[in-house]
This record gives sequence, structure tokens and C-alpha cells, in this order.
Amino acid sequence: MEPMSKGSPDIEEVPKAPGAGCPECGEPWLRPTQLPGRLRCVFCLTRFEIVSQCPDCGTHQTIARMSTTEDMTCQTCTGSMLRPV
Ligand SMILES: [Zn+2]
Ligand SMILES: [Zn+2]
Repeated sequence: MEPMSKGSPDIEEVPKAPGAGCPECGEPWLRPTQLPGRLRCVFCLTRFEIVSQCPDCGTHQTIARMSTTEDMTCQTCTGSMLRPV
């Protein structure tokens, strides 16, 4: 029995930025909260809710999934579908 030596460090625990930029501070640290459709920026601590109607152009979006950045972006004007609460 030879001891198993791990050559590569386990960095799976490091939280990755989800990629969605905060409309307030621009930092990609939006995290979903316990409430559905709500996110919070852990950088500037601003809370947001995902709106179904684009604040910029008024287009209604279908929010089926909230896991990807595209679902938080208006597909018409590419504006943010997040509104500070
Ligand atoms: Zn922020
Ligand atoms: Zn729009």
C-alpha cells in the first residue's frame, strides 16, 4: 500500500464569479438568494429582483431559467432585467 499523493491542489471550493454583472457596481458577484427571482450582490450588498418586463424597452421576457446570464438580460436591447429593491 503506497500512500496516495495528490499532485494537484483541490481548488474546487473556490467560489467562482457567476458572470452576471451587478448593475450597481459592475462587479460579477450577483448571487441568488433564498427568495426566488431575487439576487444580491455580495460586493455592494444591493438586492435585486428579476423583473419580467424590461425597464429599458418594455419587452416582456419569459423567465424560465435563472441560472444563466442570458436569462437576466433583455433579448431585445440587452439591458439588465434586474431591478434594485
Ligand atoms: Zn454590486
Ligand atoms: Zn429591453
